[in-house]
Amino acid sequence: MASLFTTSILSASLLIVLIGSFFIEPINAGGFNIVKEQREFDYFKLSLQWPGTVCRNTRHCCASNGCCRGSNSPTEFTIHGLWPDYNDGTWPACCTKSGFDVKEISTLKDALEKYWPSYSCSKASTCSGKKGLFWAHEWEKHGTCSSPVVKDEYSYFITTLNVYFKFNVTEVLYEAGYVPSNSEKYPMGGIISAIQNAFHATPEITCSQGAVEELRLCFYKDFKPRDCAIGLGSSHHNGLSSSKSSCPKYVSLPERVSLALKTGEGAGLRLTQSKAY
Ligand code: 5GP
Repeated sequence: MASLFTTSILSASLLIVLIGSFFIEPINAGGFNIVKEQREFDYFKLSLQWPGTVCRNTRHCCASNGCCRGSNSPTEFTIHGLWPDYNDGTWPACCTKSGFDVKEISTLKDALEKYWPSYSCSKASTCSGKKGLFWAHEWEKHGTCSSPVVKDEYSYFITTLNVYFKFNVTEVLYEAGYVPSNSEKYPMGGIISAIQNAFHATPEITCSQGAVEELRLCFYKDFKPRDCAIGLGSSHHNGLSSSKSSCPKYVSLPERVSLALKTGEGAGLRLTQSKAY
């Protein structure tokens, strides 16, 4: 009797552990590439965008596009997202049906507009298949997978902002002499070393047409920095992403391209080069 009782308790515990280690499978993945059962993530990747590079591709201006704020356009790396990733180079996506609610983050809106801007006029896709804000896309696709560390939408955004402020990549590069320039080229090795020296971890960097586009910092679940490339192939070990847009040996860090709305939303583009620093 006692052994039957013990066996039942053990089986029930095993079932709870198994259920707990996977996320709910989303019904509608909104076109995202979703695996059926999504186990808990291994680490966080904070992905940052360099506006000087991203804004070079701006073709349309509108009020919601961070590239189009004229002299108020971002001059520092801004947040793309906080991504829960797996050590094997893949990642979970759309882990729960917790939809984005802008009211939840109303107190953070000013900071998010400034440090987590969208660089597009198009709406972003969400896990439910609808279109929404860039923040909705990031929360639903990535934020919902960051449990059990980050529990809800507000926590996702405040946590990301705090990590972003604590690990100030723009400042580190600036102090190491890597200042925005349309003429200089900087050695990738030097940029990576500057980040390594500051945070004791190797970042991941992606480029577009020879210019730094994204710089990604990686963290253990307690937000202590770690290398981005643990367990991956050799192409990741020097911080260069193996994706199509991987970086050349010498890269640029383009200055801000100042775009502004002329009169009224969508009325056109005014394009000037301006030194932000
Ligand atoms: P998002 O959809 O959040 O705007 O951008 C995520 C995209 O970044 C992915 O679709 C993928 O193409 C690219 N990406 C490159 N490396 C990673 C990574 O380590 N984790 C995640 N989640 N996305 C990555």
